[in-house]
Amino acid sequence: METITSKCVLLNAQAPDKSAAIRLAGQLLVEAGYIEPGYVDSLLKREQVANTLLGATVAIPHGMVDDRHLIRRTGVAVVQIRKGVSWKDGEPARLIVAIAAQSDEHIALLRRLTRLMQRPESIEMLVETDDPELIVSALADVPAAPAFPAPVALPWPADAEATWTLDYPNGLHARPATRWAEVAKRFASEIRIVKGLEFADAKALTGLLSLGATRGDTLNIAARGSDARRAVDAMLEVMQTLSSEEQADAERARRNAMAARRQAPDWLPEQASQTLYGLGASPGLAIGRLVHHAAQRFDIEDQPGDVIADGEALEAAVLKVRDALSVLEAETRSRLGASEAAIFAAHRELLGDAELLRDAMVQILRGHGPAWAWQHVIKARVEKLQSLADPLLAARATDLRDVGERVLGTLLGVTRQRMVLNAPSILVAEDLTPSDTLQLDMRFIVGLAISGGGPTSHTAILARTLGLPAIVAAGSALLAAPEGSQAVIDGSVGAVYLNVARADLDRAEAVVAAQAAARAALRESRHQPAETTDGHRVEIAANVANAKQAAAAIEAGAEGVGLMRTEFLFLERDTAPDEDEQYRIYREMTEVMAGRPLIIRTLDIGGDKQVPYLNLPAEENPFLGVRGARLLLTRQDLLYTQLRALYRAAKHGPIKIMFPMVTHTGEIEALRTHCARARAQVDGPVVPIGIMVEVPAVAVMADRFAPLVDFFSIGTNDLTQYTLAIDRQHPDLAAQADSLHPAVLTLIANTVRAAKASGTWVGVCGGLAGDPLGARILTGLGVDELSMSAQDVASVKAALRGESLAAMQTLAERAVAATTPEAVRAL
Ligand code: PEP
Ligand code: MG
Repeated sequence: METITSKCVLLNAQAPDKSAAIRLAGQLLVEAGYIEPGYVDSLLKREQVANTLLGATVAIPHGMVDDRHLIRRTGVAVVQIRKGVSWKDGEPARLIVAIAAQSDEHIALLRRLTRLMQRPESIEMLVETDDPELIVSALADVPAAPAFPAPVALPWPADAEATWTLDYPNGLHARPATRWAEVAKRFASEIRIVKGLEFADAKALTGLLSLGATRGDTLNIAARGSDARRAVDAMLEVMQTLSSEEQADAERARRNAMAARRQAPDWLPEQASQTLYGLGASPGLAIGRLVHHAAQRFDIEDQPGDVIADGEALEAAVLKVRDALSVLEAETRSRLGASEAAIFAAHRELLGDAELLRDAMVQILRGHGPAWAWQHVIKARVEKLQSLADPLLAARATDLRDVGERVLGTLLGVTRQRMVLNAPSILVAEDLTPSDTLQLDMRFIVGLAISGGGPTSHTAILARTLGLPAIVAAGSALLAAPEGSQAVIDGSVGAVYLNVARADLDRAEAVVAAQAAARAALRESRHQPAETTDGHRVEIAANVANAKQAAAAIEAGAEGVGLMRTEFLFLERDTAPDEDEQYRIYREMTEVMAGRPLIIRTLDIGGDKQVPYLNLPAEENPFLGVRGARLLLTRQDLLYTQLRALYRAAKHGPIKIMFPMVTHTGEIEALRTHCARARAQVDGPVVPIGIMVEVPAVAVMADRFAPLVDFFSIGTNDLTQYTLAIDRQHPDLAAQADSLHPAVLTLIANTVRAAKASGTWVGVCGGLAGDPLGARILTGLGVDELSMSAQDVASVKAALRGESLAAMQTLAERAVAATTPEAVRAL
């Protein structure tokens, strides 16, 4: 796993003090997407309880275990401060290596760092260098230069020794190693910790870390001297005592991660020989044996032939794969659904990149064979993508590798191997390409455990669709887990437990069965109405961007579309869609909806959604600027094109028109006039006209707005950001933009009250509607409709069916009267 890139190296930095230096390093980690901003405070907190100065002017700030859930993926940042910054007791640090480690991936880094420290001139070189790549290659997973060799353990007559297997979930990292060294120093004897052919002086922290010991390594503790026996016993004692502390720390980190995701595990083992932690990528519990997936890699010899024939062979292979991908796309659509099929459409796009073929042709012309040329070009692209800090782009590297290998396989006439399984299996892999995932024998695969990747990878998406529990980013320890081990995977928590006790297994089996039954029940009941136990019905709709999503939402149980976000029609293109194009799209929507309710929101550009070709002036505060209806009122070209298209489409099926970001009653009057004019121009039918309630002013004065509109739809996302004065995208604050805040609920209550008083229909289309607790409170407040992401439909419906309206009304009253969002959640 990549832990350090040159983007995370800051050369010749200045920092007045240690905190400033740590903040600089923390900022690099935040910007590279390795950590949540809150983890920077955790780095500072650690300094209050530990000394992170390793020696030789190298410091390794790292956060607290309890805050590990704030780490998105393991990463390292280096700040070089040539003149040094006072770190501990006046001792300076000049190389600050800040570590955000999810599990034990950083042990290898500590090992390299401490090896370097054994050669002061190496550290000096890193402190003085002007080349970030030098630092990267010295610390990276695969150093460009050969690693500095460790001292080799020669036969050494010890007076006492013992053997122990390291069982710390995160390996031998700085904290336990410090304790080992402290204990060792109490004895006169020389004490060595031997791992394989290497050994370390147990009294030297750097020596211990340079062993790079990870869980499962067998260590020999050897001592020579007058108190050798006592020394070995004391070492063993501290090692074993720390085991339980280390396990408990890892457990706490995991619980915190869960608390952060606000969910309690359905099952936890009392006893497991090993727990491997990663990130939950697809929820659910499953039991099986670990099976390692060996990726199919091509060992290519460079075999140049006739340039023309080679070029043609490569081109033919590319075309053949593109055709095969179209077939696969169609098959996947019918088997799994549109979004999964889109993965293969994306693969076809990747292959459509003319530069790929051109670059490979250049290699053929330079005298290389077609397979070699193709592999060379793909490898270079993949490495480039992998080096990007953006996890989304890095995930695309897997896709490119996947299509690249497909072409190679076709070129070489090699078919993909299929794994032969005959018992429930949890597949362990470094990474899985989408093609790998689809080749799996689903009769026997019960879970996926991936050492790399991220929750947004295609493997994660496919696993969710297939209903397979999955964890990703579990680190190298996962790959070392023995093949065939009995294991339980918890995709909700993000952990794999090995060799759990029989009683745990029995309980896990019961939970697996209960989860399967609950999933089946949810799926079974998705088309049942959301009718409370006392007979009150709420309309459940979906938020979509196009007709395909609308069809998928109906299949998922939605009864209508409560919000079609038309701005997506304007994004990622060079010109605005014209009236005819928009008409076709809205008409297709009416066809898919077949008479079901359909609310189409006019263009909501500005704020977080920008469209370069509209040439809108840059604004200091786009969320408070010319967005939504404000923009349409100044850009009537856009307004009329869209309104005419909508009125034309409305001839084919019911449509309601909704305007976003309305603030003043005058805007509604103006918009209604424009609607009437556009309608007359195309001879369209009368269409209900409503507004989003997302500006607090409208919620506060809802009694004065309600009579002016045909309906309200409350946009809790924006209403929350404007009520709490928190930018919904702010990296530090967005988590506090909680729609369950009683202030937001009070505004919603006021809006619903005013709507009811004037007989105006009121729905909610912000994120709160898709949260089962939010949905219950909103129902209790009296909204008519809830519109949400398609994947939330079945669970929200089930939550509403499980309770009476009266109970939800009481809940809502108490929520509005609460003081904090936490108090609301605790109700
Ligand atoms: C909202 O603000 O709640 C909403 C649904 O609109 P959007 O998220 O598109 O701004
Ligand atoms: Mg909004």
